Amino acid sequence: MSDVNQKKRIIGKYGGEIQGPTIVCIGGLHGNEPSGVRALRYVLNQLEKESVPFRGHIIGVAGNLKALKKGVRFIDRDLNRIWQPVEIDKLLSNGNDSHPEDAEEAERKDLINVFYEYCSNKESPVYFLDLHTTSSDGSPFITIADTLRNRAFALNYPVPIILGIEERLDSTLLNYINELGYIAIGFEAGHHDDPSSVENCVAALWTTLVNAGCIDKKDADELEKSRSRLKTAASNLGGFYEVSYRHGIENDSDFRMELGFKNFERIHKGDLLARSGEREIKSTENGRIFMPLYQKQGDDGFFVLRKINPLWLRLSTYLRKLHAGAVLTVLPGIRGVDGKYETLVINDKIARWYVIEILHLLGYRRKTLEGGKLIVKKRAYDIKSPRDYSLSNKTLKLK
Ligand SMILES: [Zn+2]
Repeated sequence: MSDVNQKKRIIGKYGGEIQGPTIVCIGGLHGNEPSGVRALRYVLNQLEKESVPFRGHIIGVAGNLKALKKGVRFIDRDLNRIWQPVEIDKLLSNGNDSHPEDAEEAERKDLINVFYEYCSNKESPVYFLDLHTTSSDGSPFITIADTLRNRAFALNYPVPIILGIEERLDSTLLNYINELGYIAIGFEAGHHDDPSSVENCVAALWTTLVNAGCIDKKDADELEKSRSRLKTAASNLGGFYEVSYRHGIENDSDFRMELGFKNFERIHKGDLLARSGEREIKSTENGRIFMPLYQKQGDDGFFVLRKINPLWLRLSTYLRKLHAGAVLTVLPGIRGVDGKYETLVINDKIARWYVIEILHLLGYRRKTLEGGKLIVKKRAYDIKSPRDYSLSNKTLKLK
């Protein structure tokens, strides 16, 4: 990465004198979402100005530089859908001296360099915070892959927590980071153009620094204000939700969301949600509308959410700690790959409909559907973190 690029990519750093966690915060992975970048500038400035005592260090990283400059979501393709672990491992193992094929491949290469450079701390945990905004109005919220470690960390933010969206979205940065074993939180702050989205990102940043143990509560002057601000902005909608439906529009250029839907607004079966040309698209279930698309770029028309019962969450924690996944392989229609239970092949003609619910409960995520067989995989590092926090055993810096 050139020095000029590095300068723009790194929004700022703080800490590093006392041993502690590494916090990597990314803003503007989508170029039309500059709120995260602004919030990072503000918080890093405040830390410096007030000389706040700090354990570990924080680094603020700008995501899609070219798209941020133009104020568009992306240039050639969505930078938050190109984090396929196999492809990145290939890049890392050959040192990647090939030329990136498009604008976002070049951005990804730079970002990999940053991550691997700053996550070489072997003793202390690394946390990722990915700051975004949405094209619809509505409350801030968090998205996480459903591991027990992510759940425990996310509970500290007084906003709704959405589980399992990564099953529906391919190759996001958050999922890539998660599979490496780090705690990774996606924070959606509100509407792209709403000035309060910057303030919500600031609130999420202070909350993260205290939760991770980088700063003490008493030194986070703005923490209490931040927490109550998030609580109000989230309209007191706490708790866990899961995605029960995704309306993809990959092949539908005529998709048009009906106007006026807000994130988390209640919807009922039969409600008119969108149109594709003349065709009406109605809700097939009761729930809450989530991330309705009000911009031109993007493949997700809308999602539907349902609230998760806290008892169900407690049961799932208990069963996962017992490694109850192992018993699944004795059920009809379920086969463990290589005689283990990390990856399962489900014959959906034999296994019943509720199987996917039970798999979620036990920490599995849907991977692929191949010839009537569903392949699911247990999420890595669900309960325990990797022993070695360093990414540096993978490779040296890319060229
Ligand atoms: Zn985004």
